[in-house]
Amino acid sequence: TEEMVHRQDKLAAVGQLAAGVAHEIRNPLTSMKGYAEFLQLDESSPERREYFDIILDEIERVNSIVEEFLVLAKPQTVDLEERNIIPIIQNVLSLVEFEAKKKKVKLELESKESFIKVSCDENRLKQVFLNFLKNGIEAMPDGGTMTVTVEIKDRAVHVAFKDTGVGIPVEKLKKLGEPFFTTKKNGNGLGLMVSFRIIESHRGKVFIESRLNEGTTFSILLPAETG
Ligand code: ADP
Ligand code: MG
Repeated sequence: TEEMVHRQDKLAAVGQLAAGVAHEIRNPLTSMKGYAEFLQLDESSPERREYFDIILDEIERVNSIVEEFLVLAKPQTVDLEERNIIPIIQNVLSLVEFEAKKKKVKLELESKESFIKVSCDENRLKQVFLNFLKNGIEAMPDGGTMTVTVEIKDRAVHVAFKDTGVGIPVEKLKKLGEPFFTTKKNGNGLGLMVSFRIIESHRGKVFIESRLNEGTTFSILLPAETG
């Protein structure tokens, strides 16, 4: 039956995901083991410092994979509470201020209103905003502008993250959100997958618009709270 096919698809997807996780964690483990063994044999090696840096980077990578997956491991029901979305966005913007400054990226928040009520799980929504902001900043290696726009249209709250970065080629657009899809040297390719999941659990939607060498906009639509 159709339902069984669906279920098998899901099981296959879980298997693929598990294989992906194992692979992504085994690589850094293998390299850490190698460097640790070397350091154990030659404690006064001049490369000592460099190898410790690599090991710490790899630990950080494994840690980030585990953290992203914890979100998926938690039950899918989210704790929705009524919140003003504006200070939530301001708070997340302040978290990336330093990173943006370093990369010569200007941060802008555009909103006519100072109070827009949404029903949300604040911490998870922050995680989504942080992912989109970080991706935007990372897409502008030579600096640029990251604009966050918030507005209410057709009974939905629209939050758009617009960067003036490298853009996304058409053939890569459909890969966004696939686990471990990354084009970055130090990326883990989990941020979008987790973000899309979180927005889904808020009964929201994500739209992506991109032009090569001009920039990308990720727009989130959340049901507006009336009253
Ligand atoms: P990561 O950031 O670790 O690579 P993500 O899931 O956050 O993983 O993003 C996956 C990929 O999507 C990125 O590697 C990049 O190729 C692409 N991407 C996401 N956001 C943007 C953006 N704003 N501009 C250009 N490419 C992007
Ligand atoms: Mg990312």
